Amino acid sequence: MLFTCPLCGAPLKEEANRWFCPKGHSYDKARSGYVNLLLAGGKHAKLPGDNKMMVASRQAFLNKGYYRSMADVLCETAAKYLPAGGVLLDAGCGEGYYTALMAKKLEAEGKPAEVYGVDISKFALDKAARRRKDIRFAAASVFHMPMTDDSVDLMTEVFAPYCGEEFARILKPGGIMLLVIPARLHLWELKCAIYDEPYENEVREYPLEGFEFIESIPVDGEITLDNNADIQSLFQMTPYYYKTSEEGQRRAAALQQLTTRTSFEVLVYRKLDYFV
Ligand SMILES: [Zn+2]
Repeated sequence: MLFTCPLCGAPLKEEANRWFCPKGHSYDKARSGYVNLLLAGGKHAKLPGDNKMMVASRQAFLNKGYYRSMADVLCETAAKYLPAGGVLLDAGCGEGYYTALMAKKLEAEGKPAEVYGVDISKFALDKAARRRKDIRFAAASVFHMPMTDDSVDLMTEVFAPYCGEEFARILKPGGIMLLVIPARLHLWELKCAIYDEPYENEVREYPLEGFEFIESIPVDGEITLDNNADIQSLFQMTPYYYKTSEEGQRRAAALQQLTTRTSFEVLVYRKLDYFV
């Protein structure tokens, strides 16, 4: 168990219905199975993360397999780089779609891992924890994860906020970080359908402080959504939703069919030994 007590930093131990530390701080499991390690009144307690609607939209959309090709590449890459019996952390795991698929893939490859998921949204974790009981899910900020230093062999971060220092802290020396980012023309046709002047995604430079860049794996595809509910789900799970004008919202609400390209990059990094 690599999660630590958010109050005193000691490693947590597990019982059926709670996690606790040697000093007696205790954290109950929610009915679904995740544990809230956000301290009431703490620095991150007021950050709600994704709300109920965003979580429901994303789960509905992902469960239909629209992003499965990217998920498969992510799973294959995790299986390629994770040592047998290693520790996997999904930082910003959301409702656990990718976390659960990776755990399943690693089992299928004959090298099951010890799997952890962290997200700040309790709505998302409630869904995640119902997917698999053998993955430990905790509510916490990815900027301040209650986790032991140098403990993770491979971490993944899919469309979630990047915090290099914190990721380097929890990774073992030589540990692997997989980042999934939207590429330049991801969802281009969706944007064209909604905006008068769609803009391309900015793609950042590969070098990251404290990490060695290993490779970028592009995953390009095309998806067809043939009903408005799925289109709305996709729209609502993107960052564009809250930046869209009423006119744009109306256009999205009227769309009954949409074929759009999807374009991701899976970036692979290795933590440098001398990062402090
Ligand atoms: Zn404690």
